[in-house]
Amino acid sequence: MSIDYAAQILEGSPRAAARLISWLEDEDPRAYEWMPKIYPHTGRAYIIGITGAPGAGKSTLTDKLARVIRKSGLKVGIIAVDPSSPFTGGALLGDRVRMSELSNDPEIYIRSMATRGFLGGMAKATGDVVRVLDALGKDIILIETVGVGQDEIDIIGIADTTCLVMVPGLGDAIQSMKAGIMEIADIFLINKSDKQGADQLCSEVCSRLDIDSQIKTTVWTPLVTKAVAVEDIGIEELWQAIETHRRHLFDSGRFQEKRRDRIYQETLRMIHNELFRVVREHLQQDGKLDSAVEDIMSRKIDPYTLMREIVSEWLSIPQLKKEAS
Ligand code: GDP
Repeated sequence: MSIDYAAQILEGSPRAAARLISWLEDEDPRAYEWMPKIYPHTGRAYIIGITGAPGAGKSTLTDKLARVIRKSGLKVGIIAVDPSSPFTGGALLGDRVRMSELSNDPEIYIRSMATRGFLGGMAKATGDVVRVLDALGKDIILIETVGVGQDEIDIIGIADTTCLVMVPGLGDAIQSMKAGIMEIADIFLINKSDKQGADQLCSEVCSRLDIDSQIKTTVWTPLVTKAVAVEDIGIEELWQAIETHRRHLFDSGRFQEKRRDRIYQETLRMIHNELFRVVREHLQQDGKLDSAVEDIMSRKIDPYTLMREIVSEWLSIPQLKKEAS
């Protein structure tokens, strides 16, 4: 008899979850057989994004935070995303530390994801893994990722509460605050507060947020907390800050709004990916793209017209056809 992976995941089997996640990563069609079956059981977990520069202490912090959350009886899933690493180096190292310390707890599930080409993008892959852990019964899902590029900003967009980890002595911190990741942080955590410059960084962040709140009409003013992750200092306070933000989201109705926005974006992205996959496959199969590239090289045709021709042919949209001709 064939295995019912959905039923097993819903019963909390980490092995079944690991199998489904591997299929998702490999773009194995079996993944899409089971995802629709678990989907109705998702949407319950609360998702927390932990982001920041490499070495800021995200892994250490995620570990400590997971322990604090476990104390309240909640089940925890951890996804460590390392899009910058071609060899999973950082993620694996972090995992080894965690595995030794957290693996005794069956209610904590840890999964690291490194770049593997992910045709649909890291954000989609991460979103899929979040759903699997959600169906597995995890109450809180921590996504840990380096906050540098658009990929990571997309990943962090999955989170309900986003925590940006900053550390003193990493150059001009305020300068890096211009990056988009600053805009979506709900909590700023000044880690390594045992080091010189932590107070200064803290007041720089606070005054920047002050200015922001004067020029922008935001409903939420980000919280700033301090920690020394290695010494387990400030972790309870971080959890409290997350709880405060969570309550704010629920009380203000922003939670539903955020989730709706996310589902909208995810659905759009899935349609985009699938269309792209189907079209690319066909173009590659019949060699049409290869010959078109030759024609573009010799300037017989330009890529703009070709793009319209291909799209209009696929969709049979008269309007596009007219524009293409
Ligand atoms: P990540 O790359 O952001 O995941 O950072 P890690 O969690 O791997 O931490 C990088 C280094 O900083 C490790 O050597 C940690 O032990 C150290 N570290 C983490 N938190 C603190 C802290 O609060 N104070 C100090 N002094 N070191 C820390």
